[in-house]
Amino acid sequence: MRAAIEAHDAGADVAIVSKLHPTRSHSGAAEGGINAALGNAAEDSPETHAYDTVKGSDYLGDQDSIEIFTREAPGDIYQLEHWGAFFSRREDGKLAQRPFGAAGSPRTIYAADITGHVLIQVLYEQLVKRDITVYEEYFAWKLVVDGGRCTGVISWDLLHGGLKTICAGTVVLATGGAGRLYRATTNAYACTGDGMAMALRAGLPLKDMEFMQFHPTTMYPSGILITEGCRGEGGFLINKDGERFMKRYAPNAMELASRDVVSRSEQTEIDAGRGVNGSVFLDLRHLGAEKIIERLPGSRELAMTYAAIDPIYDPIPVRPGAHYHMGGVETDSDGATELEGLYAAGEVACVSVHGANRLGGNSLMETITFGRRAGQAAAEAALAAGKPTAVPESAERDAERELKDLLARSGGERPWQVRDELGSSMLENFGVFRRGDKMEAQLELLAGLRERYATVRVEDKGEVFNSDLTQAIELGYLLDLASCMLTAGVARTESRGAHARPSDYPDRDDENFLKHSISRWRDGGPELTYKEVRMTRWEPQERKY
Ligand SMILES: Cc1cc2nc3c(=O)[nH]c(=O)nc-3n(C[C@H](O)[C@H](O)[C@H](O)COP(=O)(O)OP(=O)(O)OC[C@H]3O[C@@H](n4cnc5c(N)ncnc54)[C@H](O)[C@@H]3O)c2cc1C
Repeated sequence: MRAAIEAHDAGADVAIVSKLHPTRSHSGAAEGGINAALGNAAEDSPETHAYDTVKGSDYLGDQDSIEIFTREAPGDIYQLEHWGAFFSRREDGKLAQRPFGAAGSPRTIYAADITGHVLIQVLYEQLVKRDITVYEEYFAWKLVVDGGRCTGVISWDLLHGGLKTICAGTVVLATGGAGRLYRATTNAYACTGDGMAMALRAGLPLKDMEFMQFHPTTMYPSGILITEGCRGEGGFLINKDGERFMKRYAPNAMELASRDVVSRSEQTEIDAGRGVNGSVFLDLRHLGAEKIIERLPGSRELAMTYAAIDPIYDPIPVRPGAHYHMGGVETDSDGATELEGLYAAGEVACVSVHGANRLGGNSLMETITFGRRAGQAAAEAALAAGKPTAVPESAERDAERELKDLLARSGGERPWQVRDELGSSMLENFGVFRRGDKMEAQLELLAGLRERYATVRVEDKGEVFNSDLTQAIELGYLLDLASCMLTAGVARTESRGAHARPSDYPDRDDENFLKHSISRWRDGGPELTYKEVRMTRWEPQERKY
């Protein structure tokens, strides 16, 4: 939505294609806040924000993109505020900022603990104000590539059925993440990595696919997120003996160390038998009822509804869960991809500001800052390219045939059986901790799942709201992405950020692996190469919190 607004204001004719109503996008679930160095709560600067982000990324983030990001973020926050985002405020009237993990200063701007919900409503209002067309409940399926240029998207009309092609001078992918690769995830059912897989199938490179972030506080048993804002407001993590175990792993930052560190610490406690039901506890009791009700009302409600626990009186059982994909479609800092006419922004993209580990609050900001930049660049390119010509008939014919084949299948399994096995095995073999033999086993398992996928049947043959069909297509996307993640994971024989191999390669290896992995689809599988990290001013150092 941010890209569409900017492209419209730059003079382009814009439309949004979305498989959900835009306000139901998963950004609406974001709770804790959005980072920009406003310096309202303590001294701060874009440079400090950049340094924290570089260190948080375990030195894999591209430092030129990070510097653009932290420099432009404050202006983007004020723009959102002027559009009507009702952020929480301090007594002196300035925007409030709370501490978040691995941040040198309280930097996270928030609207209580419903920040994503607020932002998404504000952006949608701006779409309506500009009368931007939304192809709502259109499932984008294939990118159209004509003469070395992306010229549109072939979509399935979920409400009425049938393929619809939308021609465009340029296309911006903003399709979000792929958390549904895992059984335990904070991500909604719609987060199936569609844009990454569409780009991969169109021959584009995906970057740093092995880096999936596990969030430390997902509720047991549902996997629903309890925001890092709870720890930002002073919440403790305790084990079954009531001990604040983070003192053993990150004595300075404690619960506010970076997410990879906290998730590993929790998993170590759980594996050592100091958890309960595979979980540790988030303890907010000492914050008192007033603070919990004022600052964390959404988290309290989630705990009461989904874990039958009122955090005013009892600690919440939490464990690490798949949350955010640092990898994605490789772009430059204007969102441009390798394919002329195709741009990407948000979680689908890898620009790369998060490197091997994202800091909480940096992702919402990334969608806004790089969404804006991608929208601007895509508009300029579209206006320069002139009106799009018709999509080649062969592209539509091929898509039609592929769809008919999928619908015509009988026998075989239903897609959910393959999907469930994919989700549990990814958690088991490619989770918080990784090991060479387990990853190899997962690659073999994936080959079997792909074979089974080739014959899955779509039981519903209808045209209207055929979720059986779209789920089958989404499963194909997830399987492709899993292959890229595992191939890159096996090859990265070091521990960096979210890719932790304590039992076979416990150390970071800058000599051999201070580089991005690049995955392309070739001859039915991923082909791996590497690309250097762009450094500006921060040399890699040992990372301690
Ligand atoms: C529970 C939760 C809490 C979070 N809290 C925070 C936080 O406090 N701060 C922070 O910085 N980050 C947070 N994050 C991360 C952050 O919210 C996300 O990374 C970010 O919002 C993703 O935004 P996006 O625009 O890239 O994707 P999304 O918001 O997921 O939007 C994707 C859009 O693409 C559309 N789409 C997808 N596939 C297709 C297709 N095939 N055809 C058509 N349309 C399609 C969807 O309909 C949707 O509109 C949180 C994440 C989760 C899961």
